[in-house]
Amino acid sequence: MVSFPIPNPEKMGSDPIYSRIPLVEAELAADRASQSDPALAWLWSLLEQVRDPEIPVLSVRELGVLRALESTASGLRVMITPTWSGCPAMHTIEQDIRAVLEAAGVAPVTVSMRLAPAWTTDWITPGARESLRRYGVAPPAMTSPDAGAADPAPACPQCGSTATRCISEFGSTACKSLWQCRDCSEPFDAFKRL
Ligand SMILES: [Zn+2]
Repeated sequence: MVSFPIPNPEKMGSDPIYSRIPLVEAELAADRASQSDPALAWLWSLLEQVRDPEIPVLSVRELGVLRALESTASGLRVMITPTWSGCPAMHTIEQDIRAVLEAAGVAPVTVSMRLAPAWTTDWITPGARESLRRYGVAPPAMTSPDAGAADPAPACPQCGSTATRCISEFGSTACKSLWQCRDCSEPFDAFKRL
């Protein structure tokens, strides 16, 4: 018989395994506070100009790459989280952020790359999912609370049909798969969930 260790609530505060989870939650709560801070709103809307180099219909904010802005005594701190690991677009994104802020006279600026919590396609905003669909790319499925459940087949971005089949696990880039609609026959790229 296999037994699993039962977490001891008294230990959870000090055990690094358990303390990691609240840390992620605290980080995400701080991100949300920054995203809705009225004092930072004009900077967020200014940075809306920075688009994802590979998917220009999406801003880096909508994609969930631009995480937090922090106004500090030593200037503005911008936190970004890379998408699919080693994405070369991150360098371009950082340069674009600096250029937009510099043009608006915001200085000094520090751009920090944050690796944890890791980016997930769940961070792509609902508006951005709609933009992707209009762009002809099926947005990624949301992570199901039921970890064992298979992702539903993506709906065809052209006609909305869910009668679709996977043609190839790899579409135009490694982060997409190639599908075809059985109803309108259109082939389309679908973002993989991450
Ligand atoms: Zn279709």
